[in-house]
Amino acid sequence: MERYEPLKIEQKWQQIWEKTSPFKAKEAPGTPKVMLAEMFPYPSGAGLHVGHVRNFTIVDVLARFHAQQGLNVLRPFGYDTFGLPAENYAIKTGTAPQKVTKINIDNFRKQAKRLGFAIDWSREINTSDPEYYRWTQWCFLQLYKKGLAYQKESYQWWCPVDQTVLANEQVENGKCWRCGHEVEKKKMKQWFFKITEYADELLDEIDHLEWPDKIKTMQKNWIGRSVGAEIDFAVESGAPHITVFTTRPDTIYGATFLVVAPEYGQLESLLTDDTREKVLAYKAAALKKSEIERQENKEKTGVFTGSYAINPATKAKIPIWVADYVLAGYGTGAIMAVPAMDDRDHEFAEKFDLPIVETELCDRDKFGTLKTTYRMRDWLISRQRYWGCPIPIAYDSEGNPHPIPEDQLPVLIPEVDDYQPDNTGRSALAKATDWLKVNIYNEAIGQVEEMTRETDTLDGYACSSWYLWRYASPHDNTAAWSQEAIKYWEPVDYYCGADHAVAHLLYIRFWCKFFADEGYLPFREPIKRLLYNGYINAPDGKKMSKSKGNVIDPLDVINDGYGADTLRTYEMFIGPYDQDAAWDTRSVGGVYRFLNRCWTLCFATPVSDTDHTVTTRHRTIKKVTEDIHRYNFNTAVAALMEYVNELYKVGAITEDLIVLAKLLKPFAPHLASEMLEKLSSDDEWPKWEDQYLTSDTAEIIIQVNGKLRSKITIDASNLADEEKVVAIALADDKIKKYTEPGIKKTIFVPKAKILNIVV
Ligand SMILES: [Zn+2]
Repeated sequence: MERYEPLKIEQKWQQIWEKTSPFKAKEAPGTPKVMLAEMFPYPSGAGLHVGHVRNFTIVDVLARFHAQQGLNVLRPFGYDTFGLPAENYAIKTGTAPQKVTKINIDNFRKQAKRLGFAIDWSREINTSDPEYYRWTQWCFLQLYKKGLAYQKESYQWWCPVDQTVLANEQVENGKCWRCGHEVEKKKMKQWFFKITEYADELLDEIDHLEWPDKIKTMQKNWIGRSVGAEIDFAVESGAPHITVFTTRPDTIYGATFLVVAPEYGQLESLLTDDTREKVLAYKAAALKKSEIERQENKEKTGVFTGSYAINPATKAKIPIWVADYVLAGYGTGAIMAVPAMDDRDHEFAEKFDLPIVETELCDRDKFGTLKTTYRMRDWLISRQRYWGCPIPIAYDSEGNPHPIPEDQLPVLIPEVDDYQPDNTGRSALAKATDWLKVNIYNEAIGQVEEMTRETDTLDGYACSSWYLWRYASPHDNTAAWSQEAIKYWEPVDYYCGADHAVAHLLYIRFWCKFFADEGYLPFREPIKRLLYNGYINAPDGKKMSKSKGNVIDPLDVINDGYGADTLRTYEMFIGPYDQDAAWDTRSVGGVYRFLNRCWTLCFATPVSDTDHTVTTRHRTIKKVTEDIHRYNFNTAVAALMEYVNELYKVGAITEDLIVLAKLLKPFAPHLASEMLEKLSSDDEWPKWEDQYLTSDTAEIIIQVNGKLRSKITIDASNLADEEKVVAIALADDKIKKYTEPGIKKTIFVPKAKILNIVV
């Protein structure tokens, strides 16, 4: 018998796959297809980590499973390559991000191949490839043409260390997600995508998605739709009136004070000489907090502005306060406080000793014009970074923006010597003085004018908002995606990730709806089924991190002799796919031994099958098939382990070995391919037949001197044969021990399925 040598077997099959490209998707419109993808990785210098392996293996198991079932499978791969790490490295070392990115991609590809993923490598994409970002720029221009990409001045999160604007999602507890430094608010002119235009549809279609409930809930909360009324309150001093937004206009009789957000536009007009200093200090402090922090604030804070408003319903004079629990972006940035009805207002009133008045409700019909408001803001896309997709815009001498004509795309990223942003916050693109100038036809003056290019680049989420469509025709240089190819392959059937529950998954839905409206997509939701997998933590349950020194490198596991099949199978066996799990080195050894036993069975002398093994075979096929359909990958592997245990008892039945190898192939493709090469001419997914699933066995309880000592399973046909039942029972290891003193007599009751042995 040959020894199980995974490294040898895996090398052999990877060479075969490299040569024959068996995972190349076939364009075969009309035939049943499955398209699957993981959230494409950022190729960091550290290479693949065990979390990638879990994520990619889930997709791979589903891809191979469907291919074995005869479906036409597309499993492409790509890299999300723009971003700060490569740029920060460039700033530190002077190495061009283009160069570092290429090295990292080459390493990722090599490692992914070493894991035996069934990827169609002819469809590899990379967001920083000019042939790719040319079309990202094209997408931007389509949104721009329809007014959905626009500029506005607004307060933005600003990281003074990274010298860049941050999106809300990139601010964690008032700190920069990258460097951990405290962020500031800065007023700047920025580009936005008008995602709010699609807020209703984005919200209303969530319930129809085959997505995990927790993701659906997060998206609903993020969009945060509420219906209410806008009511004007006159200001006693004669300052401009204050328009409040309330979801409960019927409680207006109980409104005993107004609260405006610290960013409220007309705040200055409400201040008096006595209050100005205090209010402005409060505002400055509030602007340093994140919105999340402000909403979670346990202790309410605020200051009186010095002004009073008139309640239009009661004509009462009520004080106007400023407090950070009111958010500028929500509604109008001003609320009427009804402490008798609202918990937060009540808490605020108690703390600052403001009146709490219980009153009747007013007729809701009094406010005919109900208004809908959303928590979701428009998507800020300007980044003051070098290593991003340049925004295809140039400014004329008066500062008006003009789109770069589509036939001049891509706007290439220029080479620079120094990647540091300048201290006005402009990206290093501003240092490429030749690149900065461009001649564009200016319609307003009817001639070509030298203009200045935009130096902001696009948020990386823009690059990943359409990549799934590029997979359908990755080398098309006439369009972002081929209509014909996309009609066949997409929407994506299975999409798997462990991050970006709100941002990426909301943005890609938004673009899908926009491009469907423009006639470029034949569907309005890009992803049919979403799998959201858990993280893999260190053996102590803590997050793996370089600084803690508890990182498990998947390539080490492979090269230690376990091989890729063990790693893949272990990561599917580690626990329910959607939950976090802790790495367990002993369990890796257990999975290795299981695969070793599969291998050994192939060299055993074949025996013929029995009714009992046929039942086990069909049960296992059913269990593994249904488990994969339900994403219960861990119990599918467990069922295969039980199957192997059973085969060790009954012997190597050729038919069972073929079934075992076929069921094993999605998890351990190299070993299974090697087994099938010896055993079978195909890898077609086996089918179970219900007729074999009925239980033909009986479980017998064995008592010794009236005490339960063991249970055995026998063929039901043996129930009538007491002598045989006793013989099987006495062969049981546990019973052997208890019957050592010598057997006096045996009493078998077939109906009750109890055998009593008296010693
Ligand atoms: Zn930072």
